[in-house]
Amino acid sequence: MTQPVTIFWHRRDLRPHDNAGLYRALKAGGPVLPLFIFDYEILSKLPSEDARVVFIHDRVAKLAEAYREHGSDLLVRYGKPLNVWSDLIKDYEIAAVYTNRDYEPYAEVRDLAVKDLLTKSSIDFHDYKDHLIFESDEVQKNDGGPYTVYTPYWRKWRTILESRMVPFEGGEISYYLKPYPTEKYADRLWQGRVEEAIPSLAEMGFKEITPDIPPTEVKQGIIRKYDETRDIPGVQGTSELSVHFRHGTISIREKARKAIGLNETYLKELVWRDFYSNILQAFPRVVAGPFREEYANIPWENDEDQFAAWCAGKTGVPIVDAGMRQLNETGWMHNRVRMIVASYLTKHLLIDWQWGEGYFAEKLLDYELASNNGGWQWAAGCGTDAQPYFRIFNYESQQKKFDPDYTYVKRWVPEYGTPDYPQEPLVEHKWGRERALRVYKEALAAAKG
Ligand SMILES: Cc1cc2nc3c(=O)[nH]c(=O)nc-3n(C[C@H](O)[C@H](O)[C@H](O)COP(=O)(O)OP(=O)(O)OC[C@H]3O[C@@H](n4cnc5c(N)ncnc54)[C@H](O)[C@@H]3O)c2cc1C
Repeated sequence: MTQPVTIFWHRRDLRPHDNAGLYRALKAGGPVLPLFIFDYEILSKLPSEDARVVFIHDRVAKLAEAYREHGSDLLVRYGKPLNVWSDLIKDYEIAAVYTNRDYEPYAEVRDLAVKDLLTKSSIDFHDYKDHLIFESDEVQKNDGGPYTVYTPYWRKWRTILESRMVPFEGGEISYYLKPYPTEKYADRLWQGRVEEAIPSLAEMGFKEITPDIPPTEVKQGIIRKYDETRDIPGVQGTSELSVHFRHGTISIREKARKAIGLNETYLKELVWRDFYSNILQAFPRVVAGPFREEYANIPWENDEDQFAAWCAGKTGVPIVDAGMRQLNETGWMHNRVRMIVASYLTKHLLIDWQWGEGYFAEKLLDYELASNNGGWQWAAGCGTDAQPYFRIFNYESQQKKFDPDYTYVKRWVPEYGTPDYPQEPLVEHKWGRERALRVYKEALAAAKG
């Protein structure tokens, strides 16, 4: 290939439409050759049966088809990103590289190394915001620091969103939710077919399985009634879009635009995603330990048999078991139930929240470091904006309130109500609550000195 190309590198943005970085690459002139790298550093640590890899593989193939409809193609390579880029520099005359930012610590280190490598070959590396509506430094307290409590964060988020309105489709929208119409410049895509085939799952050491992936569109009725139904795990009352937000198979701006007209509560939920990413960006230490450092020395029980029972959905607490089985079977769990199972693990079983965080990280199709870490720290009481440790979920009241006729429980725990189901929970509420209160209280008092 003799003509210089601009490379657009897809990562958490597996879609060509409304894509900030791709739009900028095309607008700069082109021709733009899209790229995806199956990252050996990540894949080599996963088990051979991983629904997420299968999902990504499928979406990468769809992305390639979408580019082929425009006479272009997607270049797909497998390897360590730095090695792949060293090869690409030899294989192509690269004019510039464009991509969208990824805020996880591993990705930030990787991108710096790639940028450095490219700079040595005089190739510019341009990165953009696409995954979030606002990055951490865009929503700051009046004195300049990051927010650590959700409600004031949300208020400021909203003020900034509305501070800059632009005309759109006969009305107006926030400048920050404007779509990036990549289709306008589709003729600037590199034209041709790449010679290399997409590496197969088997070549990368993965088994072909069929994950159950929800659609990318949600019925408007679900969003409209979201306030009423979002806490009821027995019905589809939430959007189930999380796997698509995670991998960028949908645009956050598009979904936020729709939410604004339909349901403010839903928009607020989307903002939790920005909020937890903001926390991870501003306090990367949360990856390794509690946000509230005084919680670092809780003397967890960490009973391995109890942990195994929790993972398998065999605790004898019906709603906890239903949630864990839903997770194990589908890779997704309802938000209300995520809170209940996390509370049961960290309070009643007194097992380190990081064990639970790790298990979710292995199993969730929508696994996102920032949201998962934030959710777990919240449940354990050591996070930002956490409920105080002494407010401990009563699983029986949660059951009565959110699944009163056991619709959800019976769906996932068919033996519930038969002699095959444990008659007693591993740890009963009253006793577990009192133990947790005592242990947390003593550990916090000791931390204070
Ligand atoms: C212990 C725990 C761990 C979690 N781990 C993850 C995770 O790894 N990845 C993940 O995407 N979400 C995580 N969540 C948040 C939440 O449970 C899921 O986003 C939600 O259940 C996904 O289903 P949905 O798409 O139907 O959500 P909806 O209710 O339809 O919400 C729409 C979108 O808003 C975002 N969202 C909603 N609630 C939250 C929240 N509390 N925090 C961050 N984003 C939110 C998600 O992107 C979600 O898809 C976790 C929550 C808890 C309590």
